[in-house]
Amino acid sequence: MTTLTHTLKQSIKRPLKAALNLSRDWRGAHRKRAAEPTLWVLMYHRVLPADDPRCETEEPGMVVTPETFRMHLQEIQRWMPVVALGDWVQRFEAGEAMPEKACAITFDDGWLDNYQYAYPELKQQGLVASIFAVADRVGQAAPFWPNRIADLVLRQSPLLHQHPVLAPAAQLLGQPYSREAVSACIQTLKQHSEDTLNAALNSLGDATGSAQGTTPDLMPWPALQELDASGVFAVGSHTCTHRRLNHANSPEQRHAEIVDSRQRLEQQLGHEVPLFCFPNGDYDEASLTLVREHYQAAVTTKNGLNRVSSLDLHQLNRIGVHEGNSRTTRQLRARLSGLG
Ligand SMILES: [Zn+2]
Repeated sequence: MTTLTHTLKQSIKRPLKAALNLSRDWRGAHRKRAAEPTLWVLMYHRVLPADDPRCETEEPGMVVTPETFRMHLQEIQRWMPVVALGDWVQRFEAGEAMPEKACAITFDDGWLDNYQYAYPELKQQGLVASIFAVADRVGQAAPFWPNRIADLVLRQSPLLHQHPVLAPAAQLLGQPYSREAVSACIQTLKQHSEDTLNAALNSLGDATGSAQGTTPDLMPWPALQELDASGVFAVGSHTCTHRRLNHANSPEQRHAEIVDSRQRLEQQLGHEVPLFCFPNGDYDEASLTLVREHYQAAVTTKNGLNRVSSLDLHQLNRIGVHEGNSRTTRQLRARLSGLG
């Protein structure tokens, strides 16, 4: 019965979604002359082949395949030039004439797969992108709590259900295991701070051991330095530990995440790091003020385009793209439309 209801729902939802995408595509800002200079900023996380085992411990909304990424780059260029985010910001601040439309490509977290799959594709197509690295997590395996949760689920560990912080969210997992259910579980856990979640996971002891393997999920410094030196990628800061910068932070934590991360990256890269990215798109006024003081510009996860008349360089909107929402050219154009 459940399966039947699900199938029925899908058979209604799919054509509706397709019609909506068609409408957005044809009415979208990407097709029209822009009344004022407009910047699109696309947000990517991971680029992984569908059969890569690393997909297993990742939320579906975090991944595109290399084939989809290639298609995206080709399709974007039909509608607007791809620019480096830092260059666009620089030109804007200098009061230069701005392109009518431009698209900046951004990657969050600094995943090793970006080096393996996005870098060659960008190089091949002669394009540039930004990558926001987590300064204290560079070169680490299973660096973030969502990946550790996914790893426990994948191994069907009963421990998740036994911990008082993790158990309520673990109820959402159901059987059989699905990546969507893991996503729902992770979303629920976001009500807790990183400190609480990491402490909960650490208290499980060796149970999360396999998530701490020797193969890094985040690219190591030499790879990040190579990307940075190549001119294909510009490295920006995504804090020291990926702590969400919301009201729960102490002034010391806030300062460490925002200011120290910049210093650490600059020491490793040998030049200024003027761009910042808010983890999970979460921040409060105090964090924003500090980011304004220490960075030239910052990106959020707020969906939308950036028009110069209403621009805030430290709260730039982005468009999240992943396999689930932009696997076809039409779906991608619906995302580029600025209509939702
Ligand atoms: Zn992130």
